[in-house]
Amino acid sequence: MATNRRNFIKKTGFLATASAFSPNILLSATKAKKEKLGVALVGLGYYSTDLLAPALQLTKNCELKGIVTGSPHKIPKWKKLYNIKDKNIYNYQNFEQIANNNEIDVIYIVLPPSMHSEYSIRAANTGKHVWCEKPMAPSVSECEAMIKACEVNKVKLAIGYRCQHDPNIQAYMKAAKEKPFGKVKMVSSAAGYFDGRSTHWKQKKSLGGGAMGDMGVYALQGARLATGEEPISVIAKTHTTRPEIYHEVEETVMFQLEFPSGALAACHTSFGIRMSHLQIDYEKGWIKIDPHWKYAGNKGSMSNGTIIDFPLESQQAKQMDDDAYSILNDMPMMVPGEEGLRDIRVVEAVFKSAAKNCEIKI
Ligand code: NAD
Repeated sequence: MATNRRNFIKKTGFLATASAFSPNILLSATKAKKEKLGVALVGLGYYSTDLLAPALQLTKNCELKGIVTGSPHKIPKWKKLYNIKDKNIYNYQNFEQIANNNEIDVIYIVLPPSMHSEYSIRAANTGKHVWCEKPMAPSVSECEAMIKACEVNKVKLAIGYRCQHDPNIQAYMKAAKEKPFGKVKMVSSAAGYFDGRSTHWKQKKSLGGGAMGDMGVYALQGARLATGEEPISVIAKTHTTRPEIYHEVEETVMFQLEFPSGALAACHTSFGIRMSHLQIDYEKGWIKIDPHWKYAGNKGSMSNGTIIDFPLESQQAKQMDDDAYSILNDMPMMVPGEEGLRDIRVVEAVFKSAAKNCEIKI
């Protein structure tokens, strides 16, 4: 960050003219280029509580400054744990007042998917940058509205695809660009876990539940990022072994993708089966990643003997530091809204294919 500040000073010629300014002007000018961005988490459920807030204690480019919650009983614990000031605590009704809070630069939406578009758009309208959890939203039209709102308000939008910040995942993303083993012929990608709950939002259609949006996007990203291409067609089928729970949303989905280069992908996702692997078969070799979508310990190997096993203290801290760095330096986000939208376009086609029992062109 010191380097960034030096670059900023160099770029603006700030030091040469600083003595001509009053101390107040000097203070506000330095404030304009913060060392660390203040983040407000919206929704204090499992992911915020167990992963994001602890990770924000490790970040260098951003810090936890605020919370937005509809559950007042959670506030004392968060205040105590993270030293959150009263003035930085909001609820879903007074959320827009964040617009006037200089300590908060980023609003991170960590709510059920059906609420992502409404809250991301409200966040963008406050003039703060927006981070939103995956899946971006249940529909393409909602994703497009989120992107538009951020463009109109001139704020940045990032989707919480933590894996794309993990060097172990970036290893095969790099292979998609450099093609060390020639063209991709086939990708096999699976992401699932056993969810024993029956009344959570993940089992409710109205809240954006279902395995496809939740875990299916990891299987899909495996195929998209391995080929570096967007699929042109899909054929999908859903399965349920627990119809008493999975009658509104899908428990298991199998989907096959075809890419413009001719590469094929067989993808699986489930709330009933633990799966976490990716295999990419190229013309002249292979890459295997197992586990593939975990918070820690993703690793793999390549047919030329290369081992993929980069250490990473916290995937979430890396993600938020990367995203804060991009904002601080006015760079494009590594995982922008458009990337979330690309997935949801395929997710919509998966559902259409499963419902019509036929191949869908994308
Ligand atoms: P959760 O159920 O534990 O928490 C959801 C939060 O939303 C709770 O604080 C709840 O009070 C609040 N909420 C507000 N209105 C609600 C409503 N009408 N119904 C239900 N909850 C409501 O869920 P979570 O696991 O923390 O997931 C939150 C988001 O984070 C989702 O988008 C999920 O996909 C995402 N997530 C991402 C990862 C990842 O690895 N990137 C991991 C887990 C969750």
